[in-house]
Amino acid sequence: MISVVIPIYNEGELIHRLHREVADVMNGTGRSWEVIYVNDGSRDNSLDLLRSKHETDPKHVVVVDLSRNWGHQAALTSGLSVARGEAIVMMDGDLQDPPRVILDMLSEWDKGWQVVVAERSSRAEGGFRALMFPLFYKMLGFMSDYPIPLNAGIFGLLDRKPLDSILNLTETNRYLPGLRSWVGYRTTVVYYDRADRAEGEPKQTFWKLLKYGLDAIFSFSYKPLRLTLFVGLISASFLMMFCFILVVCRLLDIGLFGQPVVFGYTSTLISILFLGSAQLIGIGILGEYIGRIYDEVKRRPLFIIDKVYRAPADSA
Ligand code: UDP
Ligand code: MG
Repeated sequence: MISVVIPIYNEGELIHRLHREVADVMNGTGRSWEVIYVNDGSRDNSLDLLRSKHETDPKHVVVVDLSRNWGHQAALTSGLSVARGEAIVMMDGDLQDPPRVILDMLSEWDKGWQVVVAERSSRAEGGFRALMFPLFYKMLGFMSDYPIPLNAGIFGLLDRKPLDSILNLTETNRYLPGLRSWVGYRTTVVYYDRADRAEGEPKQTFWKLLKYGLDAIFSFSYKPLRLTLFVGLISASFLMMFCFILVVCRLLDIGLFGQPVVFGYTSTLISILFLGSAQLIGIGILGEYIGRIYDEVKRRPLFIIDKVYRAPADSA
């Protein structure tokens, strides 16, 4: 069975069309399937529409109704937790992720790939978002400690095994595309053209997106913390060179840049630079400890085994 998980937040005007497109594609595969709509505390008629979909097609439509608006990532995770399929597809409910791409994902899954990531070869968003998204992914690529596929959101397919590995992670600030690449497994990519949302305004507000972006960076890297140590060490080495020059100038009473050395300048500057670098290095060292504490409290497993190839006990 294939499960499709779709978070829904105030998508009333879209649900008919969304469900028709998803159902068409899934019926076309000839496999058994379910679609799990997670109502993420919608304030419009989304829940009623979803429930009527469930009533007309109880075999294929599952509706999860969350107690309030928990956000995109939490909504998806709740859907994943009730999915019963051997393969699970995550997609957005605004038809930016075209359902027909599921066919490509399934054919990759049939070939034995355990994770299929849908990367967009183009985007149709305009304005501020068009500017910010590429910038964000560049920055994420630089910051994260191991590769997270760029230009990929949550759209993709997970085999049961990677799905269970992701569900076993208990951290609260979730960035699913990052976790999906963190758990590993045999991963491949399919490409698609990302449409603009079919109807209505984006439901991820600027602030939600910002939090999402910060989660992405800070859950997968402590480069930002390490940066302080780095800056501290650089400024300390400048300090040393500079001190040397200043002290020599002062002792030999030669001027600096053609000016006579002013009394008090050398000692003041040296002490400022010294304290500055010492503080930065101190903060950087704290950062290293905090980074490690952060790793420990996330309680991510040390490794994930896909399979052990071992002869059965009696053949030994
Ligand atoms: N969504 C959700 N909870 C939220 C915000 C969004 O479940 O708090 C859903 C929304 O209904 C849509 C998907 O998440 O199906 C992606 O949202 P949107 O298109 O607004 O995000 P963007 O395309 O800007 O990333
Ligand atoms: Mg969208």
